[in-house]
Amino acid sequence: MKLLFASAEIYPYAKTGGLADVAQALPRALAKSIDILSVMPLYDFIDLTHFEISSLDEIIWVKLGKNYYQIDLYQGYNQGVKTIFIYEPLLCRCQAPYSDEHGDYPNNDLRFGIFSKALVVLSELYDIDLLHLNDWHTALAALWSKEISPKLHTVFTIHNLAFQGIYPQTTMKRLGLDSSYFKPDGIEYWGDINYMKAGIAYSDAITTVSPRYAREILQPHFGCGLDGFLRVYQHKLYGILNGIDTQLFDPHSDMTISQNYSSSTLKDKKINKYTFCEKSRLEYSKRALFIFIGRFTEQKGLDIIIQALPQLLKMELNISILGEGDPTMAEELLDISREYPNLSVLFGYDESLSHRMYAAADFLLMPSSFEPCGLNQLISLRYGTLPIVHRVGGLYDTIIDIEDISSSICGQGIVIEALEPDSVTRAVKRALILYKSSNNFTLKAKHNMHCDVSFQKSVGEYLDVYYSLD
Ligand code: ADP
Repeated sequence: MKLLFASAEIYPYAKTGGLADVAQALPRALAKSIDILSVMPLYDFIDLTHFEISSLDEIIWVKLGKNYYQIDLYQGYNQGVKTIFIYEPLLCRCQAPYSDEHGDYPNNDLRFGIFSKALVVLSELYDIDLLHLNDWHTALAALWSKEISPKLHTVFTIHNLAFQGIYPQTTMKRLGLDSSYFKPDGIEYWGDINYMKAGIAYSDAITTVSPRYAREILQPHFGCGLDGFLRVYQHKLYGILNGIDTQLFDPHSDMTISQNYSSSTLKDKKINKYTFCEKSRLEYSKRALFIFIGRFTEQKGLDIIIQALPQLLKMELNISILGEGDPTMAEELLDISREYPNLSVLFGYDESLSHRMYAAADFLLMPSSFEPCGLNQLISLRYGTLPIVHRVGGLYDTIIDIEDISSSICGQGIVIEALEPDSVTRAVKRALILYKSSNNFTLKAKHNMHCDVSFQKSVGEYLDVYYSLD
């Protein structure tokens, strides 16, 4: 079987979040068992020389409506996985994959229409048996594969149901989509069209990134308006847990951190904390350090953290927050940081800095209101940083409370049952008690560092889905 794995972002070429991590780590893990190619757009900001990407001197044509789009093909290798890059100016002339300082690009409907159609054309060119699509940017390929390449199987993975790709009905014409698809059991959605619906309806199998989230999205509370639609396709929906690339996220060999360490040299982790606190101007570096890394959104529970901060910052601790997103939240954080010297707020997206923070911290704050899988808690386990999580989605599947010894889940942390500021405050108080009993705290960190957070277990589950379609 020959597999084409398609994503709008793949680490290290382009990354806005967990999708890029997964689109690097999963193909790398799958490559041991299956013939696999990855594919993504060759955005202008990707450095061809640095990543040793070269032209294939080959073009393909994609027709959408009345227009033809010429696509140039390139290739490179990502940790041994052959990666095809497609270059088309509308799709690729950008500063970031989906948006800039003015918001989402207004032609994202066309950009990812071009990308999705190109995936089907490329599958024919490379004799692909199975096209693995990820999120709405690729979803229309499931529909077009049924039209153009009926023998091509498709698997569609939902990484976050909250982002669906919703555009006005006029997009149908721009993309040359037959009006027969404009119906509630097709891609119509409250008078608009919804790319995610194409992936759900027309793929041969749907996966999502944790077993718990697979169940949650069938309910109105987590279904983002598509729970009813998903229930129709429940028979082909699988929840398969994400992992991380344990070679890229490894405190023993991570080149970006101040001091490497492993579970047997865990005391060296502290050097990372002292260095980080000094650079971030956080005094009292012997105090417990709590971090938050991620998008400034309600999904990640940052609104709840902000409400809890005045209480938290009166305790003997340091908090450091890295991310970007909602400007109101950013403003509120700045205001609070002016008042409390034990809070540092770092704005922007910075891969190396995030590694240094995982290495430096004692605890990760991750009270997400919903979480398809979440990678931050898995990275934290690997770096001996204890996660504090809300019991939801993939967090439910990967972290158990330190008091709960009955579960088969390896990762231990502090689990919040009901998401509200007081619960976060209580969880942090529990964390500080654990931190004071330092032997116990070290034992937990060591235990977590030995948990298998790789993709190894999930690869078998993906292969079962792939071969079930043969
Ligand atoms: P998301 O829902 O945003 O995809 P995940 O938990 O699945 O969240 O994955 C987030 C990934 O992005 C992790 O690798 C995390 O370390 C990284 N990340 C998030 N925000 C930032 C940031 N501001 N700077 C650097 N890395 C970040």
